[in-house]
Amino acid sequence: LAGNCSGWGNEQTLVLVKPDAVQRRLVGDVIQRFERRGFKLVAMKLLQHYQQLCQKPFYPALLAYMMSGPLVAMVWEGYNVVRSTRAMVGDTNSADAKPGTIRGDLSMHVSRNVVHASDSVETAHKEIGFWFQRDELVAWESSDRDFTYGP
Ligand code: GDP
Ligand code: MG
Repeated sequence: LAGNCSGWGNEQTLVLVKPDAVQRRLVGDVIQRFERRGFKLVAMKLLQHYQQLCQKPFYPALLAYMMSGPLVAMVWEGYNVVRSTRAMVGDTNSADAKPGTIRGDLSMHVSRNVVHASDSVETAHKEIGFWFQRDELVAWESSDRDFTYGP
């Protein structure tokens, strides 16, 4: 395949491994799910801070949670990655999240639900811009591309 010919497979999404998951040593588990699915990692860093979702009523608790320790921010790329990632993450409320999803496998309660993932392509674009500088995104061609996307 000649790289970006039709633009497909170039969608990107933002994933945060939240502080509870970092403390519980679940970073590797989360990363492995995206790698095995075939998505391409284009940016990743460990950091501490958070300023989003300020319109939500549970904001003080959410802010305290998100600032309670380091988190890992990542950008994953691939075909329909925003939609696929939301499916992999599972329902917001961990009790409703299906087994096999990240939250369904790894979390018990909505207030400690392991990961954040962008909910639309437009949101992903904004969130990637919030968490990463342009030069922190690495453009690279994965060697298995032809075998994960087909002709
Ligand atoms: P998401 O897109 O599935 O993560 O869900 P939302 O965007 O609706 O909410 C953002 C985050 O706020 C969730 O992932 C939860 O960590 C948290 N949250 C959402 N609803 C509740 C709630 O009712 N109580 C608490 N404590 N946290 C919540
Ligand atoms: Mg959300």
